[in-house]
Amino acid sequence: MGMRVALVSGANRGLGFETVRQLARSGYRVILAARDLDKAESAAETLRGEQLDVVSLQLDVTSTESCARLAELGTVDVLVNNAAIMAESDENPLAVGVLSRSALDVAPGLVRDAFETNTLGAYRLVQALAPGMRNRGYGRIVNVSSGLGQLNGMLGGYPAYRVSKAALNALTRIFAAELRDAGVLVNSVCPGWAKTDMGGPQAQLEPAEAVATIVWAATLPDDGPTGGFFRSEQSIPW
Ligand code: NAP
Repeated sequence: MGMRVALVSGANRGLGFETVRQLARSGYRVILAARDLDKAESAAETLRGEQLDVVSLQLDVTSTESCARLAELGTVDVLVNNAAIMAESDENPLAVGVLSRSALDVAPGLVRDAFETNTLGAYRLVQALAPGMRNRGYGRIVNVSSGLGQLNGMLGGYPAYRVSKAALNALTRIFAAELRDAGVLVNSVCPGWAKTDMGGPQAQLEPAEAVATIVWAATLPDDGPTGGFFRSEQSIPW
């Protein structure tokens, strides 16, 4: 077996960036993908400065053409669907207000925005890369989801984000079932509440701690789980 190749979307900052670092430290060649090529290249340069094998790639997960081009990349063994937006964040003028994160107030268009990036973005990347994994008989797909997408005990607030992550979890089940016999393991993970631009400064976990479960799911052995939802390497309810 040669060196394994991993691709991480939305990897110029936050948990994606830290996932690239840890996968590269584990001996993977990592494609650091970001929608802005300059940001991708500067993040990859930082990690190459740490003697890690990282290359940059422009990839906007909302662009069907951008994603379809991935099929020409050559071997990709591991896909981490990390890119996401919290569409109802305070920066979004449509969501500002006292009830900014209430489903009674969030504009339906924000649900569509979240769906485009968080759900269909992952869908496009799996469609581009899973056929190659299936042909080679090896693949690991990690859908970075969230406890906010758990139907079990789901509460109010953050409707766009919650719906997009619940649907992402459904994709995990569907692709896991379709790829089970091809050596491709597909799982959802919740990294926990982490200090990033999305998580904010009050979050509990450092990015380096939060990505441990992402890296674990990306590097599962052949007899590892598929079609599951994990936090801290433990199965959690959907
Ligand atoms: P973040 O700091 O906000 O970073 C999000 C990343 O996604 C950025 O690199 C951003 O790129 C990228 N992105 C957004 N839209 C994109 C698009 N259309 N195409 C390509 N890249 C795009 O968020 P994070 O905290 O690292 O979150 C990483 C993952 O963990 C997400 O899936 C998130 O839902 C999940 N998660 C996070 C937490 C938490 O507490 N932080 C908790 C649970 C789950 P730009 O720089 O270009 O905007």
